[in-house]
Amino acid sequence: MKYVIIGNSYAGLSCADAIRRFDKTGEVTIISDENYKAYARPLISYYLEGKTTDETIWYKDDDYYEKNSFKPMLGKKVISVDTAAKKVIIEDGTKIDYDKLFIGPGGVPFVPPTEGFNIESPMMGTFTKFDDAKKMKNAAKMAKNKEAIVVGGGLIGLKASEGLKALGLHVTIVELLPRVLGLALDEISGNITAKRLNENGIDTATGETVTKINLDASGNPVSVILKSGKELIADIVVVGVGVRPNVSFLEGSGVKIDRGIIVDKTMMTSVKDVYAGGDAVVIYDVINKRPNIIAIVPLACEEGRVAGTNMAGVYREYPGGMGLNAVEIYGLPIVTIGLTNPANDSQKVYMFQDDEKVYRKLVYDGEVLVGAILLGDIAGSGILSAIIRQGLKCLKYKDEFLNGNIYSFVIDNEFEIYNINEGYAIRGDFEDLPEFSRTNWR
Ligand SMILES: Cc1cc2nc3c(=O)[nH]c(=O)nc-3n(C[C@H](O)[C@H](O)[C@H](O)COP(=O)(O)OP(=O)(O)OC[C@H]3O[C@@H](n4cnc5c(N)ncnc54)[C@H](O)[C@@H]3O)c2cc1C
Repeated sequence: MKYVIIGNSYAGLSCADAIRRFDKTGEVTIISDENYKAYARPLISYYLEGKTTDETIWYKDDDYYEKNSFKPMLGKKVISVDTAAKKVIIEDGTKIDYDKLFIGPGGVPFVPPTEGFNIESPMMGTFTKFDDAKKMKNAAKMAKNKEAIVVGGGLIGLKASEGLKALGLHVTIVELLPRVLGLALDEISGNITAKRLNENGIDTATGETVTKINLDASGNPVSVILKSGKELIADIVVVGVGVRPNVSFLEGSGVKIDRGIIVDKTMMTSVKDVYAGGDAVVIYDVINKRPNIIAIVPLACEEGRVAGTNMAGVYREYPGGMGLNAVEIYGLPIVTIGLTNPANDSQKVYMFQDDEKVYRKLVYDGEVLVGAILLGDIAGSGILSAIIRQGLKCLKYKDEFLNGNIYSFVIDNEFEIYNINEGYAIRGDFEDLPEFSRTNWR
């Protein structure tokens, strides 16, 4: 059996590992357009600031490909897929045959149309790849006024900002929404987070956008003009607005795309023997109960694993996923799970706040917990995410949750939820178990 995997990252390698678990001899080729062995993408900001190095950014051990008999093809860009002939076409003209194909190409950075932005400038860029972090590291050395503008106050923008700040630059985040991490946080937690950034020398311009980048004779930034008309000095401009599914190379392949790649419950695309997973796919959002693109590491791994298992001939279904963010901003830990900003009055919100040190918010739909924000003290976030994902009725425990008394449960003496952040998983089948009883608080 010939397996070909496009994507040498979380989705692709989870797929490869699952294939190897069930098929010890099949030929597995892993293609990446980046000329690196697999690296931990979220760590590129740590690389920028020097916390992670050329030795420690790698996702897998040095002998990973060899040990698993995987054939890596690095620095090779797939330009199209001929699903009728079952061939993957590489930019250099090479055609690779497959029996089963996995597509895990991740996202491409979205760059809003901005006058003056030029990715070719050594002082401007996006921030999703190892090479982007390397480019910005060099740019920081050349920045005369030590001024950087980061467009986008989401996860990528915040991480890029911390990295640039650590290199001695003054950073301003320009964010269109009224707060940073605007999709995941609410007003209170957004304000606390912005304050923490400001105290650490990162300015935030919210409700703003960059309308123009003024350039010098070499085409590098001098300043940016904001929507409000304000001008800010800028040696460096990083656009970290977010990513879109990387699917343009699938045009004409017959693989159905609707914003992202459409997959069924086995993670198979609309074309037989072609599977997909990760940031490029549309999955079922178990909280919002609709198809959605949720671009995070844990889901990329789960989706890749389900796809690989099916590709190796062992049937598995993917039940869908939910949004989950865990981030630390200058010592301020933040976890957001599921629905954090309810859109209608049928969902009830409960909050606890201890100054600006600890903030907890729970969103309930009837008796079912559908979302949470934990800031400052994130203990129990793994349990809450398990409860939210399972759709358990737990309104009667809201005070314990708000007070942070969230450890482990034995449910009807049979079912357990442990802190999955610490490596434990949920046991048991909750489908027929609408309620659970608390028996062992710690
Ligand atoms: C700065 C930053 C911080 C982040 N922080 C977090 C975090 O804290 N928590 C979290 O859960 N998520 C975080 N994310 C998101 C996370 O990195 C992604 O969800 C995850 O990497 C998706 O994995 P993937 O395998 O789908 O795709 P990717 O990791 O994007 O990998 C795509 C792979 O496909 C290859 N590829 C793409 N196109 C082609 C082609 N045409 N030909 C050949 N190969 C191709 C690429 O080379 C790469 O190997 C962060 C992302 C960034 C950029």
